[in-house]
Amino acid sequence: MVQTLATSRQQSFTTTKEQRFPDIIATLMLCSICQNALQIFWETTEGEIAHHPSLTSLAQAIEEGCFLCCCLEDCLEYHDIDMKQPDLDRCTRWRVYENDPNWSVNDVRCFDVCSWDKDHPDHAEVQSQCFSLRSNFIRADPASSSEQNMDSSLSIFSDFTGSDQTISQIKKWLEICTSTHDSCGHQRKNLWMPSRLLQLCDLDKEPKVRLRSSSELESERYLTLSHCWGAKGSQKLQLTKETIEDFHRGIAVSTLQKTFQDMANVTARLGFQYFWVDCMCILQDDPEDWRRESSLMGTVYANSWLNISATWATDSSYGCFTHRDLSRDYLHVEEPMNGSEKKKNWILTSTYDWSGQVEQAPVNERGWVLQERILSPRIAHFTGTQVAWECQQLQATETSPDGIILQQALYKQYRYNIAIDNSIKHDGHEDTEYYWSRILYKYTSCQLTFSTDRLIALSGIARKINESRPSDYMAGLWSKDLPHCLLWTLWDPSPQPKTYVAPSWSWASRSGEVISSGFADRDNSTAYMTVLDYAITLRNPEDPYGQITDASIKVRARLGIARWSGMEYLEKQGECSSITLLVPVAHCRTETSTSTLRFWEGAIVLDHDGDSDLEEAYFAGVSTNLGFPVEEVNKSESSKTTTTSQRDIYLGGLLLRRLPCSRFERIGLLRLDLHHNDDPCVDLPEQEITII
Ligand SMILES: [Zn+2]
Ligand SMILES: [Zn+2]
Repeated sequence: MVQTLATSRQQSFTTTKEQRFPDIIATLMLCSICQNALQIFWETTEGEIAHHPSLTSLAQAIEEGCFLCCCLEDCLEYHDIDMKQPDLDRCTRWRVYENDPNWSVNDVRCFDVCSWDKDHPDHAEVQSQCFSLRSNFIRADPASSSEQNMDSSLSIFSDFTGSDQTISQIKKWLEICTSTHDSCGHQRKNLWMPSRLLQLCDLDKEPKVRLRSSSELESERYLTLSHCWGAKGSQKLQLTKETIEDFHRGIAVSTLQKTFQDMANVTARLGFQYFWVDCMCILQDDPEDWRRESSLMGTVYANSWLNISATWATDSSYGCFTHRDLSRDYLHVEEPMNGSEKKKNWILTSTYDWSGQVEQAPVNERGWVLQERILSPRIAHFTGTQVAWECQQLQATETSPDGIILQQALYKQYRYNIAIDNSIKHDGHEDTEYYWSRILYKYTSCQLTFSTDRLIALSGIARKINESRPSDYMAGLWSKDLPHCLLWTLWDPSPQPKTYVAPSWSWASRSGEVISSGFADRDNSTAYMTVLDYAITLRNPEDPYGQITDASIKVRARLGIARWSGMEYLEKQGECSSITLLVPVAHCRTETSTSTLRFWEGAIVLDHDGDSDLEEAYFAGVSTNLGFPVEEVNKSESSKTTTTSQRDIYLGGLLLRRLPCSRFERIGLLRLDLHHNDDPCVDLPEQEITII
C-alpha cells in the first residue's frame, strides 16, 4: 500500500523536462597558460605551479574567456583588487594540495590559484580561488557495464534541477543520512508534530493540499520549507480566518504560488505525504496564533525529516527549480594517457560555488532562516545552479555528490556544534560563549522585515543552547556571560528604533550588525561591573526567548565621565587620540572642580547615528580584556619588513546617558588602550545604578 501510494505520488508529479548533457568542451576553454599549468598539474602531488606573470597577462586571458581565469576574476573583484591599477605588481600561481586522507571521496584533486603581491612574497596578503577536479562525477551505474562510455554516464546530471536525476540524488543523500549518519539523529523514535500540517491528496486526479490538525494524525514524518516571503503583498494565498475552511477542504496544488507548488512536487516525488510551510500553517491574521506558533518554529524545523530550501528564489513566485547553463559553470578536462592506464575524464569546478550559491543566496540573508538552517537535521538547497545537500556529516552538491572539499569552515562551526538530540557538544563554558558570538555575528548581518522579530527569529537557537547550558536568557544575552557580554559592539551606528524591541544594554535594541559580542578571555580579564539584579517583562510569559516589553539591570559599577575629542573614523569605529576620564562632581572633594584622571588612547563606538556630535558621556567600566594578537608591520627599516605579534590590553566600558529617576541607558562603548598605562577604574567611585 505504501509503495503504491508513493509510486502514484511520484507519477503525478513526474516532470517531462529531461535533457542530455550537451557537448560543453566546445564552449568552455582554458587559456594557454592554464593549459600548460594543467599539464604540469597531472604530475604534481603537492607544490606550486607558475601561472600568469602579471595582472595584465591575467586580464588578457579573462578577455579571451578562460574558464579558470574568469573564476579568479570574480574572486579578485570580491577582494576589491582592481586589475587595471598599473602600480599593482602581482603574479598568480597554482598551489596544489596533497589529498586529505579524511576526504570521503576518491577521485578528487584540489588546487587553488592565488594572486601574490610580488613585493611581499611572504606576506599574507593573498587572494585565492579554490578549484577541485573530480573524476567520480562521471560514474558508471554499478548495474551496467564498467565499459560504459562517457556520454551515457553524463546523463546522471541534467540541465534542470527539477529533473528525475536531481530528485534521485536527493533520495540517495537522504537514504545515506538517515541510515548511516550517527550525528544526524537517525535513531530518533519519538516524532514530534507541529500543530498543523499540509497533506498531499488526490494525487491520481488533481493534486490537492489539505490542512490537517496534528491532533487528528498519527506521528508522521514531514518536510519543511525555507523560503523568502518577498515584498509585502507578494504572498497571495495564506492561511487566514477566512481561508482556513478552504484549506481544510483541500486546495488545488496548481493554484498555489510556484514555490509552494514545487514544494508539493518535491514532497511527493521523494515519497512523503506531509509538509509544513509557515504562511499556510500559521494563521496570518490572528496575533495570538502567530505568537504561539512562532515560538514553536525552531522545534518545527528541528523535527522535520528534511528541510527544502528555495535558496535562490527572492519570493514565492520563483519556485525551487532552475534551468542551468551547463556550458557556463562546469569544464570537462581529460587527463592524458599515462602508460597503459586508461584516459580519465574529470570535471573542473570552482569551490567558490558553495559560498556564492548557498551562503550568499537570497534565502540565507533572511534572519528567520538562520535558525531554520541550523536546527533542521538536513537540508536540500535548491540553488541557482544545482542542488546542494547539508547535514551534520555531509556537505555535498550534484557535482560533488560525495562531499565538497574545503568546506566553509565558518558555517561548519555553527552547524556542527548543534547535534540534534544532545545539543551542543561543548568542552567548556567558553566554547558556548564563542559559539553564541558567531551566531550573533551571522544573525545580525541578515535581514528582518520587522525589527520586532529580532529576538523571536532567534528564539529556537537560544532555546536549543539553553537545553545544554543552563543560564538565564536576558533579552539576547546570557547571565553566565555577564558582565563581558554587555560589551557587544556594532559595526556601524544605527538609527534609534521606532518601537521598543529590547533594553539599550541588549544588542537586540539596535538594527545594526554586531561585530563583537564581548566574548572574553576570562583567564586574562578583570571584571569591574557586578550585575546585582535584573527584571524582564515578557510579551508571552511562556516564551522566555521571545519578545519583551520592558527590561532593566541593576549593576554596581565604577562610574566616571568620559570626555573625548578628535574622533577619527577608522574602519567605522572612532579611534580617539585624546580621551579624558573625570571623576563625577559629587565625588570630588570640592564641588566646584572635577578631578581629572589622565589622557588615554582608545576608541569610542556610538550605538546611534544621531549621537555622533557627542563629546562627553557617563562611563561605567565593565572589564579589562586582552585583544586578539595584532600583526604589526614595522616599516621603519625601509629595506626590510619585520612582523611582530602582540596582544593589547584594554579596558572596556559602557557609555551611558543619564535619564530621569537616576536611571541610565547605554549609548555606546568605550575602549581604552592600557598597554602603557595604569588601569583608571581603580580611581573611579563605585556606585549602584539601573540601566534600561
Ligand atoms: Zn587561464
Ligand atoms: Zn546526515
